[in-house]
Amino acid sequence: MTLATSNPLLQPWDTPYGLPPFEQIRAEQFEPAFEQALKQHRAEIDAIGANPEPATFDNTVAALDRSGRLLERVTDLFQNLTSSETSPALQAVQLRMAPLLAAHHSAIHMHQALFARIDALHERRAQLELTAEQKRVLERFHFDFVRAGAKLGADEQTRYAQIMKRLAELTTRFGQNVLADESAFQLVLRDDADAAGLPDFVRAAARQAASERGIADASGADAMVITLSRSHIVPFLTFSERRDLREQAYKAWISRGEQPGEHDNRPIAREILRLRNEQARLHGYASYAEYALTDTMAGRQSAVTGLLAQVWEPAKARAAEERAALQALALSRGESVQIEAWDWRYYAEKVRQVRYELDEAAVKPHFALHRMVEAAFDCAQRLFGLRFVEQPQIKAYHPDVKVYAVHDTARGDGGDSLIGIFLHDNFARTTKRSGAWMSSLRSQSRNAGIAGAGVTPVILNNNNFAKGAPGEPTLLSFDDASTLFHEFGHALHGLLSNVTYERLSGTSVLRDFVELPSQLFEHWLAEPDVLKRHARHYLTDEPIPDALVDKLLAARLFNQGFETVRYTASALVDMAAHALPDGNVADVVEFERAELARIGAPADVGMNHRLTHFQHLFSGSGYAAGYYVYLWAEVLDADGYEAFVEAGDPFDAAVAARLRRFIYSSGNSIEPSEAYRAFRGRAPTVEPMLKGRGLVGV
Ligand SMILES: [Zn+2]
Repeated sequence: MTLATSNPLLQPWDTPYGLPPFEQIRAEQFEPAFEQALKQHRAEIDAIGANPEPATFDNTVAALDRSGRLLERVTDLFQNLTSSETSPALQAVQLRMAPLLAAHHSAIHMHQALFARIDALHERRAQLELTAEQKRVLERFHFDFVRAGAKLGADEQTRYAQIMKRLAELTTRFGQNVLADESAFQLVLRDDADAAGLPDFVRAAARQAASERGIADASGADAMVITLSRSHIVPFLTFSERRDLREQAYKAWISRGEQPGEHDNRPIAREILRLRNEQARLHGYASYAEYALTDTMAGRQSAVTGLLAQVWEPAKARAAEERAALQALALSRGESVQIEAWDWRYYAEKVRQVRYELDEAAVKPHFALHRMVEAAFDCAQRLFGLRFVEQPQIKAYHPDVKVYAVHDTARGDGGDSLIGIFLHDNFARTTKRSGAWMSSLRSQSRNAGIAGAGVTPVILNNNNFAKGAPGEPTLLSFDDASTLFHEFGHALHGLLSNVTYERLSGTSVLRDFVELPSQLFEHWLAEPDVLKRHARHYLTDEPIPDALVDKLLAARLFNQGFETVRYTASALVDMAAHALPDGNVADVVEFERAELARIGAPADVGMNHRLTHFQHLFSGSGYAAGYYVYLWAEVLDADGYEAFVEAGDPFDAAVAARLRRFIYSSGNSIEPSEAYRAFRGRAPTVEPMLKGRGLVGV
C-alpha cells in the first residue's frame, strides 16, 4: 500500500457528514499527512501564480480561496485534538510541526507571482465589476498578504519568515507549559477537616477528580482532589473554610508558568514580546500594539485605552466598596483579617448570602448541564428556527463528546435543511487545555469548486465543567451556564454563516467584533422566561422559583467591581507589554508588578490572567494586544440586546431576522461597523455596557 492509501488523513472521508474517521486516527499519521498536504497546497499556489492567462477574480482570488483545503482539513483536526484530547505523541508532533507550518504560511504570503496577480487586481478593483462580497474578499486577501510581509524587500522577508517560525515554536511551547503546570497540581483533601465548608457539589466534583486520578483516602475510599480547572478552583476558593488551603491553591493557580525549570514561561513570554516588536518594526510600526490594532474596529491604541479608562477608575471605586463590605462581615464573625486575594471570593459569597439571601448551593440544582444545553438549543430555535438533532451513533474523539446535526427549519425552500454539524465537548480532563472555546473542523462556504455545492460547517464547543459523579447530573453555576451560552453564541456564528468565500466565513471577522455573537447570546440565559422554562430542579423537575430568579438577577451586579478590575488590569497589562517601543522586558513578572503598581491595581483583587499563563496573548497571536476585545464587544452586545428590550420581546421575529442576517450570518462579508448599523439602525452607545456592569446610574 502506498502512504496515500493507508493514511486515513489523506483519504476521502466517506463517513456520515464527512466527519473525520476519529477511530482510525493515530498521532504518527499527522507528519506524513502534513508533508503531503503542504506539498499539495504549494503546488496549487504555484499553479495560480503560473497561470498564463491574465489575472481575473476567478482564476486568482476565488482559486486562492479554494486552495489548501487538504492542509486545512489536517490542520483543523490536529489543532482540535491537541487542544481537547492531547497526548505526549501529539505534543511532540505539535512542537516539530509549528515552525514548518509557520514557514509554509510565510512562503505562501511571500509568493511573488501570486502576490503580483492579487496586487494587480487590487489596483483595478473599482473597474472589475465585482459584487460587494467579491470586493471585500479581494481587499481582505490583499491586506492578509501585505500584513504577512508580501511587500517587504528580500532580506526583510527572510528575517520576517525567521521571526514567524520562531514565534510559532514559542507560542506552542507556552501553551504546553501551562497545561503541564495545570496537570501537575492537585490539592488532595484527605478528611472532613480538609473539606470544611465545601458544599456537596464541590465534594462530588472533587471525588470524581480523585477517582479519575486513582487517589484514595486512608480508608481506601476515593479522596477528594481540587485541580486548577476553573470549575474546581473557583468554587474551592468560594467555599473552603480552610484559609491555609485556600492560600495554597490560589498561589498554585496564579503561579502557573512561573516555575523555574523546563516549563518556565518567563523567558518564553519575554522572547515573544521582543520578536513581535521586531515584526511590527519591519512593517514600519513603532510597536506591536500599533501594528495589531490597525486590523480592528478600534483602529488605534487611544481608542482602546480610552474605553478601558472609562471603566478602570469606577471599577476600582466599586471594588473598594466591596472590600469594605467583606471586611465588615469578617469582623462580625470575629475574623479580623486583612482580606487577601485568596479570601475575596470566600467573604464575597458570605456577603452575597446575607445581602441577597442567595446561596450558590441552592441555585445549582436548577442548572443541570443537560437542561442548560436544551435551553441554548431552544433559544436558537426560537430566534433562528434551528433544530439540533443528537446523533448518538456517531463516535467522536472522546466518549464524552456529543454530536448533533443542525437543521434550519426556517428555510422553507423544500431543500435539505441540514446547515451544519455541532460537536459538544463539555467536561474537563487532563488531556484538555483549560478555558472554553469554539473551533471548527470545516468552515462554511459555497466555493468548493463544484458548481452549486455548499460546504456545511462542522463546529465544536469545548468547556471545562467538572463532571458529576457516575449516575449524577453535572450541575453548573450560573457563571458556568453563561460560559456555555457564550461559546454556543460563537458556535451559531459558525453554523449560521452564509457567505460564498471561505476567507470571510463565520468567525473570520475582525477580532474586536468576534465576541459580539457570543456575548450577546449570554443575555438570553438571564431572561426570566428562559430560566422559568429550563432552569428546573434536577430531582423534582420544578421550575426555579420566581423569588430565586429575582435574587439571582439582582445579585448579578454584586462583586462586579472585583470582576471588572481583574479583567481591566489584564487588558491594561497586555496593552502596556505590547506597546513598548523596543519590546524589551528584562523580566515579565517584574514588568507586570511595576505596571500594576503604576495603574494602582489593588493586590487583593488580582488579574484574570497573569503574563506567565496568559494564553490569549502567548499561545498564539489572536488576542495579543487584544484582550480588550471582550469589553469592546460588550459595548456592542449590551447596546444590541437593547433592540430586543425596545421591541418588548426577547424573541422578537423582526429583530431576530436582522440579527441573523447582519451579525450571525454575514461573517466578514460586510464591514463590521456597517453590519452593526444595519442590524441596529444606528451606531452603538457605551451607556448600556456601563449600566450592565453597574458602573453608572444604578
Ligand atoms: Zn468568546
